[in-house]
Amino acid sequence: MRTRIHLLVALSVAACSNSGSGSTVPGSGGSPGTGGSAPPGSGGSAGSAAPDAATIAPGDSSSPEDAAPLPNGGQEYQGIVNLVDPALVAQIEAVLASSSSTGDYSPVTQAFYALYPDEYDFLYLFLDHQPTTAESDATFVVANRPAIPGTGIDTPTALTRFGSRGRLKGVAGFQGTSSADSLPALAHETMHYWGNYLDPALGFGREKDYDYGPHWGLTGVYGQLGGFDPSSVVCLVPDGAKPPDCTLDPDRNEIDYETSAFTPGTNTFLGLVYAPLELYLMGLVPVSELPTSFPVVIDGRFDGTVATIAFMVGTGIGQIATSDIVSRHGNRAPAADSDKHFTAAFVLVTSTPAATDMLDRYVYYQQVWGAEVTSLNGWMSFGYHTGNRANMTTHIGRRRTSADPAPVQ
Ligand SMILES: [Zn+2]
Repeated sequence: MRTRIHLLVALSVAACSNSGSGSTVPGSGGSPGTGGSAPPGSGGSAGSAAPDAATIAPGDSSSPEDAAPLPNGGQEYQGIVNLVDPALVAQIEAVLASSSSTGDYSPVTQAFYALYPDEYDFLYLFLDHQPTTAESDATFVVANRPAIPGTGIDTPTALTRFGSRGRLKGVAGFQGTSSADSLPALAHETMHYWGNYLDPALGFGREKDYDYGPHWGLTGVYGQLGGFDPSSVVCLVPDGAKPPDCTLDPDRNEIDYETSAFTPGTNTFLGLVYAPLELYLMGLVPVSELPTSFPVVIDGRFDGTVATIAFMVGTGIGQIATSDIVSRHGNRAPAADSDKHFTAAFVLVTSTPAATDMLDRYVYYQQVWGAEVTSLNGWMSFGYHTGNRANMTTHIGRRRTSADPAPVQ
C-alpha cells in the first residue's frame, strides 16, 4: 500500500504524514518498532528545572496574574496546561487542514503568552481529537531562527505575531492521538526546526515524480524525517542479491529493491533516534562523524511498507557525497551551549475542560519527552533522541506577572 504523505514546501513550514502514527503502518501499534528495548537515555528528573516564580523580581505584587484562574475552566495540571476555547481548537484544526502555509497558530500562542512569560523555545499544541478535515498529523512552523550556515537555512526568520519577543523557535500543532500509548510525533516535528532544508539539487527528498519536501525521501539517511536503512537494501531479482547486482526488469526498465520498514516522509513509527545527518544539522556532531556518502535511488519510487519490509523501484542506486553537502552549504558549526538546552511547553487545547484521563495522557507525553520518567512502551525523550548531546525541559513554568514584558501583539 502506498502511504499518504502531505507536504508543505514553504521554507518555514513542514506538514507531516498521516502515516506516521497511523494504524496502516506496521509497528505503529502503540510502541516504536525499534528502540523499544533500548535502555532509557539520561533519565533522571527534569522537573526541578522548571522556572521558579520565586526567582523573578516581584514587580507589582498587588495583583499577580499567576493567582488568577485560567479562562473558561482551563487549568494547569501536573506540568501541562489545558487552554479551553473552541475558537482556538478551530484555529489548530484549520492549520492541520491546510494544504498550504496559510494556516496560523498565532491566536493560540497569543492566548498562551497572555498567561505565561516568554520563556519557551518550543510550544507544542495538542488537540484531543482527530479532525475529519485534517490533512496532516502535525504541522511545524518556525517562529524565530537565524541563518544557520551548513544547513541550507540561509535566511533568518523573525515572526512577532506569535507573541514571543524572539525566544520562541517554533510551534508544532498535533492531532489528538488515537490511543494513550502512542506518542505524538514530537521528535519528527522538532527536527523540522533544523531540517531538511538542504538544496534539493543534492538529491534528498525527491523521487522520480514526487517531492517529499523537507524529508529525506528515497535516501539512506534513515532518520526521523524518513529514508531507508542502507544496510538493509537487497534486490528482489535475483533473490538475495545486493546492489549493484540486481537485475533490471526489461519490460519496465526498472529495478525492484527491498529494505527494512521505512517511509520517505517519516520514520516516527519506528521510534528511531536522530540520524547522524540530522544530528549534524542540529550542530550536535561534526561532519567527521557522517558517512562519506548517502545512497539515493535513481529515478526512484516508493512502493510501500508491508509489515517489516518496504519496497522501492528505480534504475539504480547513486550516492550523495557528504563533501558535496559541505561544498554547497559550508560546514555546520557546532551548536552553542544555548542551542543544546531547550525549554518547551505542552499545551492541550480543548473546547471544554479536558477530562482527567485526557490530561493524564498528555502529562505522560510531557514527562516522556522531557525525560522526567523512564520510557514507557519504548517511547523516549528528546535527549535520548540526540544521544544525550542535548536536552529539553518540558514542565510548564510559572505564570506571567505584571513584571514580565507584555507579549508582542
Ligand atoms: Zn515532517
